[in-house]
Amino acid sequence: LSTNAEIIAQEALYTSGLYPKRPLAIVRGEGARLYDADGRVYIDCVGGQGAANLGHCHPAIVAAIREQAERLISCPEIFPNDVRAAYLAELAAVVPFPSRIFLCNSGAEAVEAALKFARLLTGRPGVVATMRGFHGRTMGALSATWESKYREPFLPLVPEFSHVPYGNVEALRAAIGPQTAAVLIEPVQGEGGVRPAPPGYLAEVATICAANGTLLLVDEVQTGFGRTGKLFAIEHSGVTPDMLILAKSIAAGVPMGAVVIHERHGALPPGTHGSTFGGNPLACAAARAALHVYQSERIPEQAAAKGAWLLQTLRDLRLPSVREVRGLGLLVGLELKSRSQPAIAALIDHGVLALPAGPNVLRLLPPLVIEQADLERVVTAIEAVLSTEER
Ligand code: PMP
Repeated sequence: LSTNAEIIAQEALYTSGLYPKRPLAIVRGEGARLYDADGRVYIDCVGGQGAANLGHCHPAIVAAIREQAERLISCPEIFPNDVRAAYLAELAAVVPFPSRIFLCNSGAEAVEAALKFARLLTGRPGVVATMRGFHGRTMGALSATWESKYREPFLPLVPEFSHVPYGNVEALRAAIGPQTAAVLIEPVQGEGGVRPAPPGYLAEVATICAANGTLLLVDEVQTGFGRTGKLFAIEHSGVTPDMLILAKSIAAGVPMGAVVIHERHGALPPGTHGSTFGGNPLACAAARAALHVYQSERIPEQAAAKGAWLLQTLRDLRLPSVREVRGLGLLVGLELKSRSQPAIAALIDHGVLALPAGPNVLRLLPPLVIEQADLERVVTAIEAVLSTEER
């Protein structure tokens, strides 16, 4: 299997079929660059769908994984473990509220756990989520996800979930009742079209939750770990959630998720939830190294500066096929006047890999370590692809 064509053909034979595949096979990565099997290089604005904030194969992450792999890979949470103990304390130290932490393996798993914890802690069933919100594909997470094409084949979903318009405080107030366990919300809606929370909105959401005994669960699976210009996006609003939901870039691409629970809720009842792989030493070692790099390389500050430049530069282009350029930090979306898929396909020919966020938003999630010269190449490619009205 040494060419794009061979790899693509073999995957097509055996893979589940769930993913519409891009016409290239990735075999290597370095920083913000990906290489296909035919030796072509791409600037990666998919960024592992948010899991590659530190770029590909960052030397500190590679070294930490290699070192831990030689010592211990598997260790379930029934045994205390040195790397896990160290990581828990280090993560707790950077979260802006005192906390206890549940470790798992993905975003959906972390959302799923947070929903269960909310029911456990409140004794209430209800969950209010937002229109255009995305929280994952497992049954609980899917019940909170809004997009009907993801939900409809799997109805009925978990009962007692409702959705309110994102940004509308009065709708949220009206939706919360004495049986509402939790509000689940993204600080910037990612999959739903790159929509930052309006100013003051999250603080009002927190106030309404507190007044009703409803827990505030903030889903930072996509916004966490520097993406929006702060280590966590809640730092922009100063809101203190009851739970912070993390995954994607938490361990620099090694599968990991986490629910960071406010200390005021105390320890959870033993045996009420769990995961075989959760808190495994390999993921914890990668996450420790990642956290160190986020701080030592000032990754959130880099994202803030590069994101501000990219947003302004894209807006200044005044491209005729672009309705709006939105974003926060290096989470950037271009709302097009037509569908985003043709533009994403055309960008591949210009050596840029990008993502959709809904039908007509082109989303850029580059590694936060991307170099300015590559960011400029991305802008040039976008300009070439989007400067025609027909697109
Ligand atoms: N929440 C948010 C905000 C996400 O963006 C995603 C993934 N795009 C998820 C949850 C689900 O994460 P995973 O794919 O790891 O299950």
